[in-house]
Amino acid sequence: MSDARKPIDLLLRGAAQVASPAWDSNLPLQGARMSELVTVSDGSVAVHAGRIVKVGPAAELDREFHAETVVDASGCTVTPGLVDPHTHALFVGSRDEEFEARIRGRSYAEIAAAGGGIQSSVRAFRAASPEELSRALDRHLHTFLEHGTTTVEVKTGYGLDYRHELGGLEVLAGRRRKGPPWVIPTFLGAHAIPAEFAQQRTAYLRLVIETMIPEAAEEAEFCDCFCENGAFDVAEARQVLLAGKAAGLRPKLHAEEFSCLGGAELAAEVGAVSADHLMAVSDRGIAAMRDAGVVAVLLPSTTLFLGLNSYAPARRMIDAGVAVALGTDFNPGTSMTPSLPLVMTLACTMLRMTPAEALVAATRNAACALGRGDRIGDLAPGRHADLVVWSVPNYRFLAYHFGVNHVREVVCAGKVAYRRPG
Ligand SMILES: [Zn+2]
Repeated sequence: MSDARKPIDLLLRGAAQVASPAWDSNLPLQGARMSELVTVSDGSVAVHAGRIVKVGPAAELDREFHAETVVDASGCTVTPGLVDPHTHALFVGSRDEEFEARIRGRSYAEIAAAGGGIQSSVRAFRAASPEELSRALDRHLHTFLEHGTTTVEVKTGYGLDYRHELGGLEVLAGRRRKGPPWVIPTFLGAHAIPAEFAQQRTAYLRLVIETMIPEAAEEAEFCDCFCENGAFDVAEARQVLLAGKAAGLRPKLHAEEFSCLGGAELAAEVGAVSADHLMAVSDRGIAAMRDAGVVAVLLPSTTLFLGLNSYAPARRMIDAGVAVALGTDFNPGTSMTPSLPLVMTLACTMLRMTPAEALVAATRNAACALGRGDRIGDLAPGRHADLVVWSVPNYRFLAYHFGVNHVREVVCAGKVAYRRPG
């Protein structure tokens, strides 16, 4: 008897639960829709040619498809690959001594004034060869994959001069060609004023705007700016983002992290794809973001790691209709974690988001914060087949059973890219 079933590359078979954000559009999910998941018990996912073909009951997909490779997902949960829309993973070295100094009572501002903080990462970055940068980036990105993240935005911002910012983008471009996790580069030359320009901030801004941005546009997709007291004010950030936009870089913005300066309104004004941090956002800023369709990228692991209680008002934003996404802010100074599941736990416990909202925020809405809403972030037929098999019975456990890595397999573009050893 011939097999009439359709041949496919891969079947993730018989999961206790398949869970995905609602998949009827390419847009971020807002308000009450952030709670809408599609779940299938005893479910399978069919994958072919790097794309999702179908999600449904295991028995039905068994009748319909014949797979070359079958991954037994029984007892597990299958979700879309997590998407991290905000990291500073292109760094070398660490700032563990600064971590201890903060515990002993020194403030971030005091540490920065003494040459620590971003400036110490800049010195380490400039002293490293491109090969050392690549190796550090590889190590960092592997930990993202191990924790279920299949797409990672990575910002420059520790070079802070022409040679090292553009060199950093070249390292990112090289890593991009190597495959999973998928890397999306953002130019953040306006991360801080480098020490040698301390007395000439206008000259540094000119260097960023006139010299770096036009060249950065060849490798980067987004242009970001750190809009904060002690970094760049709203007028300066506007200049940077508009110059980026003119060169073809979509704007993103570090906004309202510690101080409410009007960064959320600026993000709305320039048509930014996202405004990030937002611990100190105002109701006016929230309304402006909602009206302009700016995704709010919240980074609660930074608040935790800095030992603060000023978590971003996620509930107010969701209730106002802003699409909320989650990221790690992975960086050596203020958030040394690549784990989006940990961030999802914090989103639930500290931001009062439900486990379903946290999953949507770390997949669908994060994809939209990277302009990838048409390709990744849910399990709609036709999406890129980036998936995670978690050894937990349902999606709630991702946030609920915390401090444990539940990742069993990670699939990228339809191929198993990581399998937990043992
Ligand atoms: Zn950041």
